[in-house]
Amino acid sequence: MAENEAKREVERAVIIGSGPAGWTAAIYLSRANLSPIVYTGAEVGGQLTTTTEIENFPGFPNAKDGPELMADMEEQAKRYGARVVYEEIEGVDFSTRPFVLRAGGGTVKAHAVIISTGASPRMLGLESEKTFWSRGVHTCAVCDGGFYRGKTVAVIGGGDSAMEEATYLAKLCEKVYVVHRRDELRASRIMAERAMATRNIEFVWNSVVEEVLGDTESGPFPKMTGLKLKNRKTGEQSTLAADGMFLAIGHIPNSGFLQGALETDDAGYVTVTGAQQTSVEGVFAAGDIHDHVYRQAITAAGFGCKAALEVERYLVRQGLAD
Ligand code: NAP
Repeated sequence: MAENEAKREVERAVIIGSGPAGWTAAIYLSRANLSPIVYTGAEVGGQLTTTTEIENFPGFPNAKDGPELMADMEEQAKRYGARVVYEEIEGVDFSTRPFVLRAGGGTVKAHAVIISTGASPRMLGLESEKTFWSRGVHTCAVCDGGFYRGKTVAVIGGGDSAMEEATYLAKLCEKVYVVHRRDELRASRIMAERAMATRNIEFVWNSVVEEVLGDTESGPFPKMTGLKLKNRKTGEQSTLAADGMFLAIGHIPNSGFLQGALETDDAGYVTVTGAQQTSVEGVFAAGDIHDHVYRQAITAAGFGCKAALEVERYLVRQGLAD
């Protein structure tokens, strides 16, 4: 009896984060009658709420609005009994059992945890970048490249992501500039060579973006027209005409709140096994918080599903599923 009382004070599964990985995990766990609780974080719905049309999520032949897709996932999770707390988890203690999570001035205890806090694209930090966000300025070519068919775009960065984005965009766009702050790429040789061999990709070396240029007056939406660049070697300023800019200057995993409670790689991505298990048994991770390779809504949802199934197995193994 006392044990049951104690169990009721402890959540069976807490999901941290409310992107496609988190909501998918919530749908699976609630359908398994495990009554998960989702802590959404400050940005409810995650990165997808900052995009417009999503054309590559299966099941929506006419595309789907990003915020709408996330709201639908939330509704679906709630329909099966997921509870939602619109707060951020500020800290964790995974050294005790049950685990202790800090949020909103209080704590919550949990037998199992899924971390799905995602990653945030690194931005340049320019005011104009915000003005043209999603209307010229993007961070995912696979998501938003389709809006620039036959147009001219600039990709910013010199790593593998920049090469991949540029090569992808070159198939859709008339012209792709790669603007890199040095005269040497960070990208792997094979990715760099592929981009360099592409007819309509042109490299702009030693250059940084000082401002995103465009028209904010003549229509209901701002329209990007180009970039103000500065050459870091000569100090010379120039204007590059472009309809869009894709930032590929890296991502920052949202793992700061973990403060060393779990194993991460040097960049802060949580390390997981094939079963989404982190370095702490009972703590799982799903989505962009561990995956810096695929980073798609559909892969994040898949990882969320895997993590939920693994949580279920874990709770059953531990005799904590009831
Ligand atoms: P990354 O390797 O860290 O490269 C970031 C690039 O952005 C660098 O060239 C960097 O310039 C530049 N940059 C960073 N901050 C900047 C700023 N404020 N202004 C201008 N430029 C800035 O990141 P990534 O390309 O996203 O790759 C991340 C990881 O994923 C890597 O391990 C990569 O190999 C891997 N990845 C693999 C594939 C693949 O194999 N298919 C595809 C994508 C990514 P500097 O070079 O001057 O530092």
